[in-house]
Amino acid sequence: MTVCDGTVVCPGSYDPITNGHLDIITRTSEVFERVVVGVVNNPLRKETTLFSAEERKAFIDETTADLANVKTQIFSNLLVEFARELGAKAIVKGLRAISDFEYEFEMAQLNRKLDPGIESIYVIASPHYSFLSSTGVREMATFGGDVSDLVPAPVAAAMTERLSDR
Ligand code: ADP
Repeated sequence: MTVCDGTVVCPGSYDPITNGHLDIITRTSEVFERVVVGVVNNPLRKETTLFSAEERKAFIDETTADLANVKTQIFSNLLVEFARELGAKAIVKGLRAISDFEYEFEMAQLNRKLDPGIESIYVIASPHYSFLSSTGVREMATFGGDVSDLVPAPVAAAMTERLSDR
């Protein structure tokens, strides 16, 4: 049984999902009754993502298949609107080093202004993942670095394939 009932959203670009994301999603799913992983599909940034929104969603579906209360959905509207549509009561995000704090502090205030009924909740990154970002993983893989310890196995394989096509 989980601690809190209701639905929460874990939003992100997940380009691609890393073991750090998975850690936050898993820990969130142990606290909340239902977790929707929201994959941002920003048409303005389409050409800058390594994987399409559908591909990013498929990786998350595959790697969270054992978590019964987690599902994945693509969204392209305002985050608080997406949360409202789902009937979610909170947005849950991971918090890494100090650098995340400033951005998240601003986003939490803006989102509260847009909808005071949706709370922003932060889960502190596990120490061994606090250095890990999708951007870092993409850069490492681009230059042939081994990312197999940082992302789920199907993602590592897909990254190697995608980047060798370029
Ligand atoms: P990234 O910052 O890696 O590009 P996203 O924009 O997809 O990732 O982030 C989605 C959410 O996951 C954000 O709340 C972000 O702070 C969090 N997150 C990303 N990587 C980690 C990590 N290694 N540990 C904890 N939280 C993380």
